[in-house]
Amino acid sequence: MPLLICVAPGCDDLALPGCPHCERHDAAKRDKLAARRKAAQSTDHARAWRSLYQSRAWRAASRRFLRRNPLCADCGDLGAVVPAKVVDHIEPHKGDRRLFWLRSNWQALCIPCHNRKTAREVFHGQTGGGG
Ligand SMILES: [Zn+2]
Ligand SMILES: [Zn+2]
Repeated sequence: MPLLICVAPGCDDLALPGCPHCERHDAAKRDKLAARRKAAQSTDHARAWRSLYQSRAWRAASRRFLRRNPLCADCGDLGAVVPAKVVDHIEPHKGDRRLFWLRSNWQALCIPCHNRKTAREVFHGQTGGGG
């Protein structure tokens, strides 16, 4: 088995088997990938999105909405009485502030209904309505 030298400039450590880099540079490469992945999740858009939900205004408004709409809308459609826990956007706002704050676009849901709806949106990219 030939011993290879790490391909990183200026590095003369031995490369790991089946890898162009030494242990140190291979770890550095993985760190860089992880950092890039993390950066993608904290883009301006994602930050703006999160800050909408974390804003005091949203928390206060959604609490008020749930006080007035204490039951899950989806479960109500099926005749079940289930306490609502979250305010959901009927049409996904995708970061759009107008849609986000539009009261007529809000509905009270229980956690299972909200998770189900969110999963559907993520998997099928649905824009609401339908079904
Ligand atoms: Zn190296
Ligand atoms: Zn429900």
